[in-house]
Amino acid sequence: MSVTSVVGTRRTAKADAIVVFVVQDEKHFNAAQKSLTSDIPHLLPLFASGDFTAKANQTALAYGGSATVSPRVILVGMGQTSSITPERIRRAAAAAAKRAGAAGCSTIALETMPMNGIDSATVAQAITEGALLSQYRFDKYKTIKNESSNGLVKKITLVTDRPHLKAVTKGAAMGEHIVGGVTLARDLANAPNCEIYPETLAKKVQEVGKKAGFKTTVLDKKKIEDLKMGGLLGVNAGSVRPPVFIVMEHMKGPKNEKPLVLVGKGITFDTGGISIKPAAGMSDMKSDMHGAASVIGTMYTIAKMGLKRNVIALVPSTENMPSGTAYVPGDILTFMNGKTAEIDNTDAEGRLILADALCYADRFKPSAVIDLATLTGACVIALGTVTTGMMGTDEKTKNRLRAAADRTSEYVCELPLYEEYEEQISSDYADIKNSGGRNAGAITAALFLKHFVSYPWVHLDIAGTGIQPKAGHYTPKGGSGVGVRLLADMIRHW
Ligand code: MN
Ligand code: ZN
Repeated sequence: MSVTSVVGTRRTAKADAIVVFVVQDEKHFNAAQKSLTSDIPHLLPLFASGDFTAKANQTALAYGGSATVSPRVILVGMGQTSSITPERIRRAAAAAAKRAGAAGCSTIALETMPMNGIDSATVAQAITEGALLSQYRFDKYKTIKNESSNGLVKKITLVTDRPHLKAVTKGAAMGEHIVGGVTLARDLANAPNCEIYPETLAKKVQEVGKKAGFKTTVLDKKKIEDLKMGGLLGVNAGSVRPPVFIVMEHMKGPKNEKPLVLVGKGITFDTGGISIKPAAGMSDMKSDMHGAASVIGTMYTIAKMGLKRNVIALVPSTENMPSGTAYVPGDILTFMNGKTAEIDNTDAEGRLILADALCYADRFKPSAVIDLATLTGACVIALGTVTTGMMGTDEKTKNRLRAAADRTSEYVCELPLYEEYEEQISSDYADIKNSGGRNAGAITAALFLKHFVSYPWVHLDIAGTGIQPKAGHYTPKGGSGVGVRLLADMIRHW
């Protein structure tokens, strides 16, 4: 997938289709109709039919004839001008790209100009994200490619005028780095466990780090034992494959700037362990490392953007398997910081590996730590697959995430961490218990993690938003890549 920006017009742009964004309000719609039919007379019958009203995400395809270099013209509706946001632009660009793909186009050119007071760099970034992210498919294991299920648009060109070219080029580059990170996260999350297990995940991160320009260190089982990461080792006990602990570093900020530390849950497959899950839907658990995928994708994006910040990402990774050597309910694990937890349910494993990672984060004296995890089914019940659950101790970071959520439409909503919930995870035999039962399960999971933090901290539960039951405007079914756009935006605006 590639993006270029050029100076041109709807008549001169060269692609399989030229895409024109059209707003719905009467005055603007009439003006657009006038200018479009004067530029491209072949559009007259389309407008005369009244079929195209420019309501949001509506598309129409026509043929430009001799008036345009591109053989096809795709009109895409933006709805009312006053409701145009970057998200509206992403969705419209996605609708246009899907229409083009369905018509067999592999290249499209999109008119890129400021809209509703949104500057041209932001518009260019939103178009790039929407158009390219909508074309994502995880089909590398299909030996026979099904055309109708394949996004065919491989290359987009942003067409603008000379005064806007510089900003459009910059916005397109930002969009491209984001698409790269989101695509990486989706690929990792969608890869089956036979492809991505802890050691191959680590290898993949090393490759990506080399390509994008961040430093990677992989701690193997021996080092994990030396560090006394009892949570990670406990969860790994049932698995033939060893665990890994991955450290990524992007230290491009001022020397004295304390780093932001990201932590991603890296359970490459979650069977539930001895507290085994039901068979139906278990294959989704190949994506139980989406938190890891999100932070890896974010590191790729911020490194490619060359952001001048200090950011470190940590990924504790293992499978959660049942076997004769697996940890069992009633076991007591001792974490890196010496705290102990009684195992009530081996399917509440994510918090156990995160606990060690949160202890490890301490050594970096972080300005803040944000962890991402497909942590609880309870969060899916509370917020569905639309909104990420946000919990934590640091108001400033929560506000930064809220602002980034507004800009990216990767929504977050806070759940409370009142101490009254604590008694649900109290244990008769250890410091805490790893499961607080069904009530408020997302909250008690976060309260478990809170026992291991000693710095400003926010936890994002992406169990719902990370694994989508069906395709959205520009998100696929399955691993969505959630978190990359959110975090990269937050770090960019820090
Ligand atoms: Mn689990
Ligand atoms: Zn899990």
